[in-house]
Amino acid sequence: MLMSPHTQITTMTYRHLFGPVCSRRLGISLGVDLVPLKTCTFNCVYCECGWTTNLTRERREYVPVDRVVAEVDEYLATASELDYVTFAGSGEPTLHSGLGEIISFIRDRYPRYRVAVLTNSALLTDSDVRAALMRANLVVPSLDAVSEEIFQEINRPCPGITAGQVLAGLTTFAREFRGEIWLEVFIVPGQNDTEEEILRLRDAIALIGPDRVQLNTLDRPGTEIWVRPAPDLALERIASVLGGNAEVIGAACTGRASSPKAGEVVDLLLATIRRRPCTIGDLAGVLGLRPAEISKYLRILEVEGQIEPVREKRGVFYRAVV
Ligand code: SF4
Repeated sequence: MLMSPHTQITTMTYRHLFGPVCSRRLGISLGVDLVPLKTCTFNCVYCECGWTTNLTRERREYVPVDRVVAEVDEYLATASELDYVTFAGSGEPTLHSGLGEIISFIRDRYPRYRVAVLTNSALLTDSDVRAALMRANLVVPSLDAVSEEIFQEINRPCPGITAGQVLAGLTTFAREFRGEIWLEVFIVPGQNDTEEEILRLRDAIALIGPDRVQLNTLDRPGTEIWVRPAPDLALERIASVLGGNAEVIGAACTGRASSPKAGEVVDLLLATIRRRPCTIGDLAGVLGLRPAEISKYLRILEVEGQIEPVREKRGVFYRAVV
């Protein structure tokens, strides 16, 4: 559930917005990031944001609601061509106690925009969290394992969070929520791709009854180097076992983000790469620039020692040097 501040705007520097990015699933999406890097209820082996430094289940106002609302208001007042405003980014958005208030602000003030929330599902047992999500148009919850042992191995949750609780929370939420639910299952080869676990997931999905089931796998470097992407054929096979509405998430975004001004490019590139490793193609899609132009700025950042290249299956990724 992951997705880089659009740093320079008319009167305000955006600290809690990123993009718009060209998302594989959501098209042109403005990101809203409600927690500091990296605050989460999980510490997933595949996480693109790196190791969870604040593993917590404490809900609080991690960043000021007033500030987020002011940024969103200023941006959306002049935005165009957005498919979604998406809560995601540096960790788990449902940890923010003001999530519901911010969603309501967007829905009331800017009803033309659809609101999506990416969540790892860990806090859906909490009725306050479920209530906060009620006015979203789309919720994309994760469910990677039903077996406790596999859940602990892949998601490495905050102590006290169990696989059974996650499934119970998801099932309750799905009964209450009137918007769309696109359930994400992240396949980690050697962990949750066994026949037994896929059948458990199939049964769990039947209980939840999501509108869509989307299979994801490693696309950019994860937290643990031993995590590898699942082969396309394996994903197709798993989708067929899960049945009906299961699909493999495509690799390409078909939309296009608006181009930033020249002076913003280096800041925007660095902010995007800090949140997740990207290829030149990814960055070209996000920034709406030609790959050759992206390469020029990447060389500058690499020479300055701010980023480094890493070769993965999908090509060369650039990641921030901490
Ligand atoms: S749920 Fe997992 S993948 Fe999502 S931000 Fe937390 S650690 Fe990363």
